Amino acid sequence: MRQFLFFFLLLTAVQVTAQRTLIHCGKLIDTKDGKVINNVTIIVQGNAIVDVVNGFTTAAANDKVIDLKNKTVMPGLMDMHVHLEQETKRGAVADKFIQNPSDVAFQSTVYARVTLMAGFTMVRDLGGSGVNLSLRNSINKGIVVGPRIFSAGKSIATTGGHADPTNGYRKDLMGDPGPAEGVINGPEDAYHAVRQRYKDGSDCIKITATGGVLSQAKDGSSPQFTIEEVKAIVTAAKDYGFIVAAHAHGAEGIKRAIKGGVTSIEHGTYLDNEGIALAKEYGTWLVPTITAGKSTADSAKIPGYYTDIVTPKALAVGPHIQNTFAKAYKAGVKIAFGTDAGVFAHGKNWMEFVYMTEAGMPAMEAIQSATKNAATMLNMWDKLGSIEKGKIADIIAVDGDPLTDIQVMGKVVFVMKDGKVYKKDGVQVL
Ligand SMILES: [Zn+2]
Repeated sequence: MRQFLFFFLLLTAVQVTAQRTLIHCGKLIDTKDGKVINNVTIIVQGNAIVDVVNGFTTAAANDKVIDLKNKTVMPGLMDMHVHLEQETKRGAVADKFIQNPSDVAFQSTVYARVTLMAGFTMVRDLGGSGVNLSLRNSINKGIVVGPRIFSAGKSIATTGGHADPTNGYRKDLMGDPGPAEGVINGPEDAYHAVRQRYKDGSDCIKITATGGVLSQAKDGSSPQFTIEEVKAIVTAAKDYGFIVAAHAHGAEGIKRAIKGGVTSIEHGTYLDNEGIALAKEYGTWLVPTITAGKSTADSAKIPGYYTDIVTPKALAVGPHIQNTFAKAYKAGVKIAFGTDAGVFAHGKNWMEFVYMTEAGMPAMEAIQSATKNAATMLNMWDKLGSIEKGKIADIIAVDGDPLTDIQVMGKVVFVMKDGKVYKKDGVQVL
């Protein structure tokens, strides 16, 4: 009996490893070296890329073949700044009082699916209520269709700061949220809040180093953390292997965050020359979110879309982000692709490529920022971000050549994540 069982297990294992998928690519974007390779075959087995060979390999009896001979193939895209729990709409501020966590969970599954179908096989969720962690787990278990998620869980703010969850509430509902809810005052609280995120199961830490546009508070850009608080967050985060992302609009808050040792500055709206020099000195990444800036400024022009306290901030802050990105890129600051999707409609993440190239970044570098650079920032370059032997099979294809027409980044026709095909011929198949 035992012998039979052993034989059965062996047979199963062999069958699993024998099945190969051959992807015939007319054009393959090599994100490692920033070049295009013509006529190659990617060989996928299980969830891994086992080889990339020149020409179109002939299929053996058990092989599956995917024909992408007239498409452009590239690694799955990675958006380093999304919020999958929510999506912009008029009067969204009321949702906090009428939505149950289960309502948030159901809608987040739709946003996750839309994101994956747009070719984003991985996202970093930089803040929600904690439903984003359950969403990640459900996707990992295969219950929900969506990208792999690297989640901050609940972001960390200071009292009254951007991401204090009771900002703008009626006084008797405000309470005084603390580290467990992601609100800190002082280094001791900072340690507590980071450890709570670890307990919650977060993958990284997000802080709101300055005011923000969409919070129900007056100021959109002044510093909201002391440098001691940032340093405490970063020190505590290192113990758990967390990288730290800092939302920051104003110049002073950006500098404190960089000096405090954060991994990335999100938005970076009023980044000045001193801030640029600091970012280069400390090796800090900039995650631009140009799409968020433009779309919030557009939405603010619609009467009643945002509350009266938010509208002027959206009009003032939004339009600056693209110019700041252009300046930072030219100066040599490291750029990782991020959009702030949720602040605009999920699935439109690809618009960021259009805005980045419009601001002077070549299309190849924009694509590398959403693959190689993003994977490097997450310390996952050994597994993701390029199509190479030994990496995880996250592979997409677009209809056309993005290096000559960046708009085709919005025409994703094929999506494979973890070796499974989710979209083929432009249609969802899983
Ligand atoms: Zn955000």
